[in-house]
Amino acid sequence: MRIYDTSQNNYCDFNPSHIVKIYVCGITPYDSAHLGHIFTFMTYDLLQRRLEDLGYEVHMVRNITDVDDPLFAKAKELNTDYISLAEAEIASFQETLNKLNFRPAFAEPKASDYIFKIAGAIKTLIDNHYTYYIDQDIYFNTSRYPNFGKFSGYSDKLLHTLMAERGGNPYLKSKRQALDFLLWKHTSDPKDKAQWTTVIGNGRPGWHIECSVMSADILGNTFDIHGGGADLIFPHHESEIVQNVALHGSQLARHWLHVAPLFMAGEKMSKSLGNMIFAKDLLRKYEPSTIRLALMYYHHRTGGEWQSELLIEAERLLHSLHKAGSQCDDIAATKLLSEVRVALDDDINTVKVIEALRAFTNQAPKHQHNQSSLNPIVSKTLELLALI
Ligand SMILES: [Zn+2]
Repeated sequence: MRIYDTSQNNYCDFNPSHIVKIYVCGITPYDSAHLGHIFTFMTYDLLQRRLEDLGYEVHMVRNITDVDDPLFAKAKELNTDYISLAEAEIASFQETLNKLNFRPAFAEPKASDYIFKIAGAIKTLIDNHYTYYIDQDIYFNTSRYPNFGKFSGYSDKLLHTLMAERGGNPYLKSKRQALDFLLWKHTSDPKDKAQWTTVIGNGRPGWHIECSVMSADILGNTFDIHGGGADLIFPHHESEIVQNVALHGSQLARHWLHVAPLFMAGEKMSKSLGNMIFAKDLLRKYEPSTIRLALMYYHHRTGGEWQSELLIEAERLLHSLHKAGSQCDDIAATKLLSEVRVALDDDINTVKVIEALRAFTNQAPKHQHNQSSLNPIVSKTLELLALI
């Protein structure tokens, strides 16, 4: 198997040991999962399914960022408390993933369950002189890492823009370096529910340190693949990398796999822009297998403009697959399974998977006796793709 590794900007062979450890940055539970989220998580679900098909045991960790500013802002807007909002959205997200036939995660850690471990990690960073204070907030001093910002390969201008977009305020005058990031937000308002009393004071953690602590706790200091949406490359993932080196002196992930966004009317599908298609709405009209197959028309490294016509196209293709799969012989079915495996082994190339499925429906014998059920090899192929 080969994957496209963001850290090397190239394809590389993926040869893990028997247990494959993967950490994927999950949702902030303040709104329903949109198709862009499902597209991201489905890519790792297909990777997990193919690795299991090859005989590996996969430890897939998908965290939940339930301590984060966008969640608090949404709760305030809805005049509700953030814990109830997060619980409702987490339940809705789980229901959506279950309906869409996702493999269960090995662990789904919530940031709120890790606050004291996170505070302990920040204390270590303070003790080892990786931090400084602005008022009583704690920042990571990136001057210890002259290469900070190079992982993404982005220009300085873009780094500043992305930092500003994600609440990192590169223009804050008291910062020592513009790209220094928040580790701990001090809180003094007793009415603020999102605060904890810890060894480093009262407050709550920043987003990046949450993932560093959860991933190390469950998967160890170095694991096989770190993933998430491509919009997390900077500052989130780059900050995790330097935190891991500062805390453990080790490489965080051997490989990085990122999933490109889906677009609506030329804009990235996102909560902040409000241009989203929600998976739970589509599930009222379409079979889960139809939604999954429609998303497979996009390559995970390119994403693209969402076209709802693909749902109709996917419905037709599924119908043809079931028809051809109940008429074909073992030779045609074996060829299909082999081509699908080859496509998945090529950086989870779902566009090639679609080509193989279409070729199978076009080439399968039309006149053979119609069996009552799917050929078992076709059935195995559709199971591998979670289409039955
Ligand atoms: Zn993360």
